[in-house]
Amino acid sequence: MSGYILGFDVGGTKISAVLGKSDGKIVASLRKPTVRHLGPGKLISDFTEMGWKLLNDNGVSRPDSIGIIFAGLVDSARGVVISSPNILGLKNFPVAEKLTEEFGVESFLENDATAATIAERVFGAGRGVDNFVYITLSTGIGGGAFLNGQLYRGAHGMAGEIGHMVVMSNGPVCGCGRRGCLEAIAGGRGIARRVSENITALRESELLSSLKPNEIDARKVFELKKKGDMFSQLIIEETIYYLSVGLVNIINILDPEVVIIGGGIAAAGNELFTPLKNAIKEEFKSMYRPVKIVRGLKNGHDLSTVALPLFVKSNNKN
Ligand SMILES: [Zn+2]
Repeated sequence: MSGYILGFDVGGTKISAVLGKSDGKIVASLRKPTVRHLGPGKLISDFTEMGWKLLNDNGVSRPDSIGIIFAGLVDSARGVVISSPNILGLKNFPVAEKLTEEFGVESFLENDATAATIAERVFGAGRGVDNFVYITLSTGIGGGAFLNGQLYRGAHGMAGEIGHMVVMSNGPVCGCGRRGCLEAIAGGRGIARRVSENITALRESELLSSLKPNEIDARKVFELKKKGDMFSQLIIEETIYYLSVGLVNIINILDPEVVIIGGGIAAAGNELFTPLKNAIKEEFKSMYRPVKIVRGLKNGHDLSTVALPLFVKSNNKN
């Protein structure tokens, strides 16, 4: 056993390869842009090239195992990507088998939100916590949960779709087809859209109107709020209100000990967490409970790929 784990992560804009250790230390990582139109062949050759480079550069002849994370629908038991929006022509693709053939070790596959939940269980605020919910606030919103110490997958492996909970009936149309999903309002894309759609307010805001349309994202809106932009403040307040509605819905149903919030928007730190905690307290009304709201792992994406094989192996032992 070398103590090293090789990880791969396929997102919408980039693919990463990570070399980590079983104690959660990330030794090195490489990133490349995701090339959607070149399909699975290019993806595997990128994986192979990046994987061997990481191993060779760090004097590792063989990792103990491989963790693979995909945004999209996966069959983790068989190591097959059922479909992924990020790579064209990728359907029922046995990615774990391909990487096992190449690197000669066991490979494990998981969906990105589920893997991030596992990473919190192995390395983050979910360690030793039997009931916790993880939510990722990014371009979209996803999540997962551990209940009674077990990862909760649901009957079809699709549990944890926190982003597709309706929090505003007749609200904006979501990618899933429903109206007023949490993701359509409080996801990164939802935040940017709400800013861009409000032309009058946008023009009146000196700071926002100086941006090009494609420069408006959640990070910018938080930044401008900090600089005192009134419209950005309004958008953030609204975002936080709807997040609190969604989170209290989940807390009321699952009664977790901890809610862990990760993803790019969580990087706003106290600008998000302080008002969000207050809004949640308010939204509890008469159903208050002392649930902790904490920030997720800062390098949760990289750690997901490392945590996955460790988690699956320790579960198989039990
Ligand atoms: Zn939806």
